[in-house]
Amino acid sequence: MSFSTPMMKQWQSLKEKSKDALLLFRLGDFYEAFLEDAYIISKELDLTLTKRHNIAMCGVPYHAGEVYIDRLIAKNFKVAVAEQVEDPKDAKGIVKREIVKILSPGVIFQSNLLKDKSNNFFISISQIGSIFGISILDLSTSEFSAIEIEDEKDLINEIYKLKPSEILVSQKFKDQNQKIIDKLFIDLNFLLTEKDNWYFEFDMALDILLNHFNTPSLDSFGLKAMTAAIAASGALISYLTEDLYIKLDHIKTIKAENLSSFMAIDFATMKNLEILESLNHLNKDSTLLNLLDKTSTAMGGRLLKRWLKMPLLEIDKIQKRQDSIQEFLDNFETSLKISEYLQNIKDMQRLLIRVINKSLTPKDLANLRESIRNVPLIKEKLKNFKSLLNIENEKDLIDISSLLSLLEEALVEIPPIRLSDGNIFKTGYSEKLDELKKISTNSFTYLNNYQNKLKEQTNIKTLKVKFNKIFGYFIDVSRAQVDKVPKEFIKKQTLVNSERFITQELKEFEEKVLKSEERLKTLENELFLDLREKVLKYSKDLQKIAEAIANIDVLISFSKVAKANSFIKPEINDSNILDIKDGKHPIIEANLPFGEFIANDTYLDNENNQMYLITGPNMAGKSTYIRQVAIIVIMAQIGSFIPAKAAKIGIVDKVFSRIGASDDLSRGQSTFMVEMIETANILNNATNRSLIILDEIGRGTSTYDGISIAWSVVEYLINTKDKKAKTLFATHYFELTELENSLKGVTNYNIAVKESETEIVFLRKIIKGSTDKSYGIHVAKIANMPSVVIEKAAQILSNLEKKENTTKNSSEIKPKKAEQFVLFDIQDNLNKKMQNVIKELQEIDINTLTPLDALKKIYNLKKDIDK
Ligand code: ADP
Repeated sequence: MSFSTPMMKQWQSLKEKSKDALLLFRLGDFYEAFLEDAYIISKELDLTLTKRHNIAMCGVPYHAGEVYIDRLIAKNFKVAVAEQVEDPKDAKGIVKREIVKILSPGVIFQSNLLKDKSNNFFISISQIGSIFGISILDLSTSEFSAIEIEDEKDLINEIYKLKPSEILVSQKFKDQNQKIIDKLFIDLNFLLTEKDNWYFEFDMALDILLNHFNTPSLDSFGLKAMTAAIAASGALISYLTEDLYIKLDHIKTIKAENLSSFMAIDFATMKNLEILESLNHLNKDSTLLNLLDKTSTAMGGRLLKRWLKMPLLEIDKIQKRQDSIQEFLDNFETSLKISEYLQNIKDMQRLLIRVINKSLTPKDLANLRESIRNVPLIKEKLKNFKSLLNIENEKDLIDISSLLSLLEEALVEIPPIRLSDGNIFKTGYSEKLDELKKISTNSFTYLNNYQNKLKEQTNIKTLKVKFNKIFGYFIDVSRAQVDKVPKEFIKKQTLVNSERFITQELKEFEEKVLKSEERLKTLENELFLDLREKVLKYSKDLQKIAEAIANIDVLISFSKVAKANSFIKPEINDSNILDIKDGKHPIIEANLPFGEFIANDTYLDNENNQMYLITGPNMAGKSTYIRQVAIIVIMAQIGSFIPAKAAKIGIVDKVFSRIGASDDLSRGQSTFMVEMIETANILNNATNRSLIILDEIGRGTSTYDGISIAWSVVEYLINTKDKKAKTLFATHYFELTELENSLKGVTNYNIAVKESETEIVFLRKIIKGSTDKSYGIHVAKIANMPSVVIEKAAQILSNLEKKENTTKNSSEIKPKKAEQFVLFDIQDNLNKKMQNVIKELQEIDINTLTPLDALKKIYNLKKDIDK
């Protein structure tokens, strides 16, 4: 084999077509990779590299091809698959081969890499002026949408939330925004595909989209004037159709999303609140998503995730969801029954894609049938429901009984996975097929009779008529009986213990059977394709049904969760008040023994109760409390019921958080820098409708820096018009509690602790007032520090406290006004000492000073400074 062989020439031309993808070239029972591809694949998949005529090769068995392809894609490679597209028997010269698919992380339709309850997004990003456009496509479900974003930080946040598996950008974008891409790579695992700038040119992109959707204008999709979104979407379509040869006929619509119609929660906040992912590596399931997810279908699971990322701002939309959940609760038995039906519904969205891209198997069709069987049962149960959303969803469960009848008539109950395995259709579906099948069944009887006839004729008891793939039908006679064989038997093969023969009659029979079997296979194939075409006609209806099913599933899931946890329906209004009675942190509560979580109230507004300043020792429950308020607000605005006794929630437009020391978005910067960037972002973007939770700021710097910054942040939020966000601020800086006296809207709170001689008990109840007790040593004790360390620490603490008390008593440095907190007192003190030193130095007359006096003077000055 060399490059000049016809086969390698064919390989080379296909390799050019597959561009930057690894090429798997079908060669008999293997997919072979050559040259550079072979090196990569053998290294990445730990496979043997062979060499033939100096050409490196690496092969994988074709029947396990999918597994190897998945492994390569999981490592962010693109893989092109070239198949033999003609029967080697018919080939003149070399067998014709073509690239049948190019797969990559964003382009997979059916694979173990697809997680049931997660989308697999391929996104494309463009930039026009200062506007970024993101186009978002899930090929496995046909969901296609686009958004525009002005701010770089928002862009990164959005992409973090989407968690795309592949991103398409132009070379220009990459050159200009390398920093953004680097940031994304820190935490996300995706394949970056770079294309020429012209893919992203507006005019070209617009043309591509108009053509694709066969429409004179994109306005009806809501994309009017969204030039950046159009550029990104057009580029994505061009890339998929032209570079990857993918048919996108099933992408029938694109949805223009407007981020401002949803509550803004940045990625860091979602992380801090453990909305989708847990911060606890030992307990990955401890998330709000998991708590709320009692969905029965993959489609419902994906929709719930989407809702959690996009809480609503419109009261009536939230109330519609609430009413639906209430109705499911009021008719709980029915809801459970619907749930049972839902459990039988397979991933219709992804099944539909397989219908469209022709990768459908007979088993898929049976799954689709099973799903469709359950739809009318659900519809029936929803008949008497009255809430708007339930009525809407019931309507969307369109009657497709004609498709169901068709599938019922056609398919056997349990068809095989592969089309080639046969036995797909029920008797009666096709007369022709039944006839051909009869020949097969009859042949069995014929063979049986023929065998008996021969046995009698020859008097050979062990004679058998058998079949194998190489010889077809033959007569098997054991060696001992061979001399009894009549002469019309034609010898075919001699084995150790037997001989094999055929007869003219058997040969004729064989030809007839094989022909009919081939016809049977062809007919079955044709019937299957025909059935697929018929199903395809229902794709729009099926898509609509799938969406309704997802909605019903999530709403029932909410009702189940509400019932199991005694959640209540909050009142949602447009006031500027957050009033929560007996609120709880649902995730922490779920991890504690029943009844151990202590509920707490919250009342925040834009006037007298704008900010809670919460002090108190570590482990008291401060973080839990401030997080619980944010979580309750988010739950309320996705329509879910909430963990509280009663609540009135005035719509919150944005939730901000500044929590913890590490933040993934800005790794590589100092903790303090990250804190300041986040705090600046909050101050720049907060509004009167926002909710901010701050768990200590300024920790990454010196105490005085920290206090000063925290102090002015509080003042800014309280005093700046249009920035009067409701704020929960947990802090160690006791000094800040002075602010309650000078700023209207700030109230001190702490979390109650009961003290006895030897023990302290955390009561977990939030109460008015401040505390400067830290009980650090107590916490150290709980943490099982060695007792010598604890005792020594207690001793040092007592000494320090004594010293501090004496300092505090000296009237010189006692704070006079609220603003003069310790920082300035100490500065003051230092200044005074400096002034004294300067004064004394000025008073010295060098001419009269003896060396001994000079030494004494220095001694005294030093003593004063050290005081
Ligand atoms: P802090 O922020 O004050 O250091 P945390 O909020 O982290 O304290 O709370 C520490 C632990 O206390 C939590 O992990 C939880 O187990 C428990 N806890 C907090 N709040 C409550 C509560 N309201 N009821 C019961 N346990 C609580």
